[in-house]
Amino acid sequence: MTVFNSPSFDRHELVAFKEDHASGLRAIIAVHNTNLGPAIGGCRMYPYTSDEQALDDVLRLSRGMSYKSALAGLPLGGGKAVIIGDPATQKNRLLFRAMGDFIEGLNGQYITAEDSGTGVADLKIINERTRYVSGVMDGSQFGGDPSPYTAQGVYCGIKAALAYRQNVTSLKGVRVAVQGAGAVGRHLTQLLINDGAVVFVADINPNNLKLAQDLGAESVSPEAIFSLAVDVLAPCAMGGVIDEQRVGQIKAGIIAGAANNQLANAIQGEQLRQQGILYAPDFVINAGGIIDVYHQRIEGSSDNTAAHVESIGETLQKIFRRADKLSKNTATVAEELAEEIFLRPMKTAAA
Ligand code: NAD
Repeated sequence: MTVFNSPSFDRHELVAFKEDHASGLRAIIAVHNTNLGPAIGGCRMYPYTSDEQALDDVLRLSRGMSYKSALAGLPLGGGKAVIIGDPATQKNRLLFRAMGDFIEGLNGQYITAEDSGTGVADLKIINERTRYVSGVMDGSQFGGDPSPYTAQGVYCGIKAALAYRQNVTSLKGVRVAVQGAGAVGRHLTQLLINDGAVVFVADINPNNLKLAQDLGAESVSPEAIFSLAVDVLAPCAMGGVIDEQRVGQIKAGIIAGAANNQLANAIQGEQLRQQGILYAPDFVINAGGIIDVYHQRIEGSSDNTAAHVESIGETLQKIFRRADKLSKNTATVAEELAEEIFLRPMKTAAA
């Protein structure tokens, strides 16, 4: 396994590996860039089938966090941790304590948070061994779970996209297709329905689907959700869903959802533009979670979180305007804007 030659390696500042025999922990932490501040990002637990797969994931995800935090206006860098293991069967107290020791050993270069496969209970164990943990603040409005704020950000992003593209300011009667009725998808469904939107939901998990139906959403099969005639498509399940095959099936005029890495390849960003579909770049619209984490961890208060999350709408409109002006796709423009922010201190130092 190589690190520096890995396809996802992109000038990462630090990649650290840990194996702890006693607990069975095998983990990788990647810090992509700390020009703006300490690297914050979730700790994912997943049964990776190879070390290469785990390395690729942590490199890609930590890089994404640098871009996300920069455009969210946060003084944070990009980092991520992955634990190689099945969260359903391999979680134990020793393992998370060993993970805490691993994080503590980096002296604050990386601050962890929950991610897929880990939750507040796991972070509390990590927190027994290190201070560098976010999302465990008992007094926070949602007990440390960032998904309500992620949903709030997506909701603001959908409104910003509708205002930009359709000059629509009310969600009443607007048709939205939500793929994935998990933590974010369900909060989003609730917000949209509260405002009078017509929401269609698809999920492979019947329990989550039922919860969304109970909120008033109409269920659709997972195959049909991408080709529905709707105003907005909100991918809130997995990454890579906008691929070569699907891109031509999409009838929505706007794609605005929470899932990370929605575009299978960068070319899909350009294909969407050429089809006249307005794409809200995922790492911009789904920043509500990291904004919440920042306010909990650094400010120690959630008082300003909601207002900060609302600013996602303005950031998206700036990206939409610049993309139209330059005849570029929104994903490219968002990356360029983020680099202008987080690479600037480095350029100044070199000058
Ligand atoms: P979750 O695991 O709670 O929900 C995901 C849902 O998608 C589940 O109900 C699952 O059954 C469903 N799903 C999976 N594959 C599907 C398919 N093929 N078709 C339909 N449904 C499918 O996750 P979440 O916390 O709601 O996050 C959703 C997405 O948003 C993820 O991609 C995550 O990385 C991203 N995200 C989440 C946050 C957050 O705060 N939770 C922040 C930023 C980004």
